[in-house]
Order: sequence, then structure tokens, then C-alpha cells
Amino acid sequence: MSFLFPPPAVTHLPIVGRDQRFPVRRVFCVGRNYAEHAKEMGFTGREAPFFFMKPADALLVVEAGQTGRMAYPGLTRDLHHEIELVVAIGTGGANIPARDAMRHVFGYAVGLDMTRRDLQNDMKKQGRPWEIGKAFEQSGPIGPITPAVEAGDIGKAAIWLHVNGQSRQRSDVSHLIWSIAETIEHLSSAWALAPGDLIFSGTPEGVAAVQAGDTLEGGVTGLAPLKVTIAGL
Ligand code: MN
Repeated sequence: MSFLFPPPAVTHLPIVGRDQRFPVRRVFCVGRNYAEHAKEMGFTGREAPFFFMKPADALLVVEAGQTGRMAYPGLTRDLHHEIELVVAIGTGGANIPARDAMRHVFGYAVGLDMTRRDLQNDMKKQGRPWEIGKAFEQSGPIGPITPAVEAGDIGKAAIWLHVNGQSRQRSDVSHLIWSIAETIEHLSSAWALAPGDLIFSGTPEGVAAVQAGDTLEGGVTGLAPLKVTIAGL
């Protein structure tokens, strides 16, 4: 047996304090999971969580201490930042109850769900899929995974994003509408989760546009930070 062409390389993330790498399988994302962000997007109330995906090779892997370089993507004039806590699944399963969910988590990373907001809004208006706004190349800058045992109480961690040194997003993981455990319960009822799956857990309020030349620095208390610059066209 041989391949017609070389199969694509697996995307893999660094793990803080280890030589091993975390191979990525799928990238799930939760929509509108902080109340104040749902409001700024024109929604109120607690709706059931909903999910979309990015291809694993849409991640922009940023090594510890490095600055990632994201090219400003085509087709958009409204590239938005969404800082997010990313959950890394180490043990798979289907229909995982919330009370067991945290046992399936290997660790956490800081990620950006970069969004071509103008294209996403066009698709929303027309009732069409979001991929063109959400799942393009380099749309998921992400830093190293910190193992859960070393991450502290992630459910009460601060989450923030600075752009060019100015605060843009600041909240707390305790403000998630659907907690990490509840998110895993819902997600695993729709997909059988597997080791290597990532879950971008949603962004707090303060999303806004970035420009070529901007520097984004994001963090979650207890995790390795993420730094990315936006390169010009
Ligand atoms: Mn998001």
C-alpha cells in the first residue's frame, strides 16, 4: 500500500514541562458562552450551547516564549479577536455526564478564535454556514498546553486580551454560561470525543477588529500566555 501523495502532517502542540507533544484531532468551538459577549452580539438569555468547528490545520501553533505571526486574511475588512480558554481532551467518550467530565481533560491552553466578522455576519443573515468566517487558515492561534494538574483552579481564572498594550477583553472563567464540565456533557452527546480533541470554550465581551501591525497578548491565570502579531497583506 502506498499513498498517492504524502498524507498531511498532524498538527501538534507543545506541553508545558514535557518533551511530548499533544497531537490535535478535532477543534470544536462553543458559540456565545459568556453572557456579556452574547449581549454585544445581540442575544440575551441562556440558550443551549451550540458548536462549530475549525480544521486542525487552521491552528497557528505558537511555541512557548515565541510570538506567532498571523497573516491578515483575505476577503475581510473586519478581522476580530476572540480570546478563549481552550480545553484539551486526553480521554475520549460519548455521553459524558458533567460530574465525570473533568476526568477527560488533559489540560488547557490560551487560544484566539480569529473571526472574519463581516463574512460571518453575511452568512448569519442568509442562514448559511459560518466556515468562511471562522475556519480559514491561521484562524486559531494557540499556545502551549498546561496540564490540568498544574493549571490551578481554572474555573475561577481570569481571562484577558491586550492589543498593543491596551486592555481589550477581560473577564473570568467563572462567567462562562456553560461551565467546562457542562460544555463537555453537551458536546459529547453530539460527538464521541477522542483524545486530541480541543474545545475553544467561548469568548468574553470586548471583541473588536485588529489591523495589520497589531500585537495581541492573551492570557488565562495559571496558563502559558499567547502572543501574536498580525502581519500585513
Ligand atoms: Mn469564539
